[in-house]
Amino acid sequence: MSPTEHELHGYWGLTRQAAHQAFHAIGGRDVHVTSGFRTVQRNRAIGGVEGSYHTRRRAVDLVGLPSVLGEILVHAHEHGAVEALHEYRGTRREHLHLAF
Ligand SMILES: [Zn+2]
Repeated sequence: MSPTEHELHGYWGLTRQAAHQAFHAIGGRDVHVTSGFRTVQRNRAIGGVEGSYHTRRRAVDLVGLPSVLGEILVHAHEHGAVEALHEYRGTRREHLHLAF
């Protein structure tokens, strides 16, 4: 499964432009979205970075096979990503974070 541009905007709450860029960065690869837009309160509650792009509707978190996430990471900047990084919980790789 791969999220559609419509889902990234309408369900996950990204701006139209961020949804468009994220859609192309994902490139139809098999990933699941675990987070998109967060309110400031929600972001704070889950320990998100202050001022996170998630609170500005410009970030998405993805899970999937490490090789698939690695491919997306390598090409993300070509699709306008301003942040592309693996986020960890403890030592466990939690997800790929992309911001546009
Ligand atoms: Zn994130």
